[in-house]
Amino acid sequence: MPTPSATDENPAPEYEPVAFEECVKTFTAKTEIELKCSQCGHKRASMQNGFVTLPDVLVVTASRFVLKNWVPTKLGNNILSPP
Ligand SMILES: [Zn+2]
Repeated sequence: MPTPSATDENPAPEYEPVAFEECVKTFTAKTEIELKCSQCGHKRASMQNGFVTLPDVLVVTASRFVLKNWVPTKLGNNILSPP
């Protein structure tokens, strides 16, 4: 939705700010993947990222890209750091 301050050179941000906690939830969510089991031929599988242990300091790099027509496009949304 255009805002009064948006111009052709500086369009309004397309994406809302996202909380860091939401990014972690998305990163660690279970994802259905296509993988054919070599043992039984079953075609459904899931994968999930997670942490076995946590370090004292966790350094995170935000991967703010989506594929638009197979072209990696940078997202302009801000990630809100935890308090
Ligand atoms: Zn199987």
